[in-house]
Amino acid sequence: MRLIRSQTKVIATIGPVSSSKEVLEKMFHEGVDVCRLNFSHGTHDDHLQVINNILELNQELNANVAILADLQGPKIRIGEVENNRVELIDCAEVLFVTEKCMGTAEKLYLSYKEFPRDVNVGDTILVDDGKMKLEAIETNGKDTVKARVIHGGFLSSKKGVNLPNTKISLPSLTEKDIEDVNFALDNNVDWIALSFVRSAEDLVQLKEIVRNKKKFARIIAKIEKPEAIDDIEAIIDASNGIMVARGDLGVEVPFDQVPLLQKDIVKRCVEKAKPVIIATQMLESMITNFRPTRAEANDVANAVLDGADAVMLSAETSAGKYPIESIAAMQKIIDWTEKGVAFNREALPVPGSRTFLPDSICLNACRMASQTNAKAIVTFTYSGYTAFKISSHRPQSDIFVFTRNKTLLRKMSLVWGVRAFYFDEHDNMDDAIQHSIDFLKEYKHIAEGDVVVHVGSTPFEEKGQTNMIKLSYV
Ligand code: ATP
Ligand code: MG
Ligand code: MG
Repeated sequence: MRLIRSQTKVIATIGPVSSSKEVLEKMFHEGVDVCRLNFSHGTHDDHLQVINNILELNQELNANVAILADLQGPKIRIGEVENNRVELIDCAEVLFVTEKCMGTAEKLYLSYKEFPRDVNVGDTILVDDGKMKLEAIETNGKDTVKARVIHGGFLSSKKGVNLPNTKISLPSLTEKDIEDVNFALDNNVDWIALSFVRSAEDLVQLKEIVRNKKKFARIIAKIEKPEAIDDIEAIIDASNGIMVARGDLGVEVPFDQVPLLQKDIVKRCVEKAKPVIIATQMLESMITNFRPTRAEANDVANAVLDGADAVMLSAETSAGKYPIESIAAMQKIIDWTEKGVAFNREALPVPGSRTFLPDSICLNACRMASQTNAKAIVTFTYSGYTAFKISSHRPQSDIFVFTRNKTLLRKMSLVWGVRAFYFDEHDNMDDAIQHSIDFLKEYKHIAEGDVVVHVGSTPFEEKGQTNMIKLSYV
């Protein structure tokens, strides 16, 4: 395993080309921090196998790679297509039908029962993150819509469909999502992402399911609808993290607006100490090529410079030819870019707020770390709150979390700069601090003479809000 890991984290979507333990192990070594299971594809059995492989590797390699379950949400898709490859030819006519069938160039299943009723003649139909474009020319109002191909291309199974002009009548959490979320929670995934969030209310039902099952998974809202942009502050507040899902976002809003939207969303998330992920097409050409385009390298670097917590790979690692090389390439771009930039963000604590004192501790721990050129900031936390907060200041020092909360260990792998370690109960703060120093020294994260900043709460046994900073030489 890489001993020195980057501050910006790497997420890989796991699919047919990467679900084996052998490939996953190589991905661990190349620097993957979070594995994403896309519930739009694959069966529960497939996903369970991947989960078990990840858990075994975490044990064997003493790693904490996190698991992110990505729910399909109200996404419209075509079905399976013949030989997983069908060509849509410009100007040809295609039927979209709502009854399941094997797709061909003439007839495709669409997973949206109400489509023939909701569509209007002239409406645009975009396929595969907008790579292909069709226009509805006729509907029978019941089960079939005839469309003309405007821009064709090759189509594989289950590609997503966007209907930018059609008013879509689908719930935010579908029946399939509810089954998937139950499966994911039964298997103790760390993060659950919900697609096509339109408002903060869309998250309520999902949060309730997690709570009712007494699980600790945290919720990520995927931003890919114009409605979500309009309600962005409330959505960030209501979720534990955000994904800038550029594939659908760049189809649902004009693609030229996506770069600034990305920057704006990252900035808001960092200010609110919510992890933010940049997703889709980051190294798209590596689905078939062994190295990225210069523009792609630039895109990854740009996300790092924006201060995103994590950058994500989709088809590159799930269905592409070079899953391991994609992670290696992404990690190299991150490593080099991080060397050339100092992040340091300061969001001032709000006087009178419930977290005023701990927020003030976290901010000033980062200031002291910067002033003393500290190697590490160490925090003792059960909820993880101080870890998220310290991370949000994007300090130059490494951030180490010591916690007896086992459900926190993997979760933290998504968070910028943070690494978490389990530690047993300690009777007092002095012992806890000494333990953390011994441990970090043993694993060569810190060395004799380094400055270390510790953050915690005293009296130790009360486990109250963070109220203490200690500065010391190792
Ligand atoms: P989303 O909108 O959630 O990103 P997506 O269909 O774009 O859904 P990605 O995870 O971005 O899916 O992956 C891109 C492509 O990789 C998919 O369209 C699919 O062709 C392939 N893929 C991803 N995961 C799997 C899987 N588990 N099984 C088969 N193919 C997969
Ligand atoms: Mg995608
Ligand atoms: Mg999507």
